Amino acid sequence: MKCLICRREFFPKRTLRTLFVEEPVFKCYGCDRKYDIHPRVSVLPIQNYQLYLISLNLDEKVSDLAFLHEMNVILEDLLRKTKKTDTILWIDEFTEALYQELEKLDYGNIYVISVRQPIFLV
Ligand SMILES: [Zn+2]
Repeated sequence: MKCLICRREFFPKRTLRTLFVEEPVFKCYGCDRKYDIHPRVSVLPIQNYQLYLISLNLDEKVSDLAFLHEMNVILEDLLRKTKKTDTILWIDEFTEALYQELEKLDYGNIYVISVRQPIFLV
């Protein structure tokens, strides 16, 4: 496999338990240790509900495709915990204009997974 960050070839570790399990791996072990993500959750008020902004704080020069496994874990966790009326969005960058548009919605809580940290909240 080819690492999506450093572009080097690597071979995922296999054990007897994972020998016949196909699990996609997008980054090598070196990049996995170097680019560890630390999601930050911000709660913003919207009309009658709340907007939960989960930003992954990824570096601009790193491909977000390399972190699909981590994003999948966050998404599965959200799907288990949220109600059917809640909305989940997955976007590259959360802007102030988008926040102003989402503020007008009155459907339920909104969960936004953002790849980059929004500048207006820093
Ligand atoms: Zn790598």
